[in-house]
Amino acid sequence: MTEAAERKMRFLYALRSKGVTDARVLTAMEKIDRGAFVTGLFADRAYEDMPLPIACGQTISQPSVVGLMTQALEVGPRDKVLEVGTGSGYQAAILSLLARRVYTIDRHRRLVHEAEGVFRRLGLTNITAIAADGSHGLPDQAPFDRIIVTAAAEDPPGPLLAQLREDGIMVLPVGQSDTVQSLIKVTRRAHGYDYDELRPVRFVPLVEGLAQD
Ligand code: SAH
Repeated sequence: MTEAAERKMRFLYALRSKGVTDARVLTAMEKIDRGAFVTGLFADRAYEDMPLPIACGQTISQPSVVGLMTQALEVGPRDKVLEVGTGSGYQAAILSLLARRVYTIDRHRRLVHEAEGVFRRLGLTNITAIAADGSHGLPDQAPFDRIIVTAAAEDPPGPLLAQLREDGIMVLPVGQSDTVQSLIKVTRRAHGYDYDELRPVRFVPLVEGLAQD
């Protein structure tokens, strides 16, 4: 077996052992090379199950957490998905193989620009990346079938709850940024929202406003 094939096998094994069992999610994560999203000093650690630093003082999430969040989101092939927190673009790329269309927002223009470059190189044409404050959502494209937030807020942002379609699902970390946060799954029902707590996680904070870079 080549070194690359062995590395991929270990990567997928780590995902399964941490509870990522959905076949469609595993297939998408097998296809999207995390190495394409990690550059510089940490490039050789792209296949390890750990978060890594990216530009603008942000992080690319741990692969098993990406897998568990994607699995909890229950994305279908006709779904229109909103991601808040583009970061490296890795999570959006995985979603793009599972959904019809993905909108992803980051407050750092530089991250949006770099992620767009990777999407282009990988031939992912159903992702729209936007530089903006994602806590307001994307009213023009609402409602969304699925919403995923990859930065932690104290509570689910009201505009995002409002932009979720009935029977839609939103997955996000909530809690204070300097403590352990909870990953929660919100399902919109006809007369309100159901909340499920999934597991403890640690994400960078959701910050208001567009960044300088
Ligand atoms: N999903 C990313 C990881 C995201 S890290 C990946 O797969 O690599 C969290 C990201 O959320 C950071 O890039 C940060 O800039 C962004 N962020 C924080 N607050 C934000 C806000 N209000 N609107 C949009 N993006 C925000």
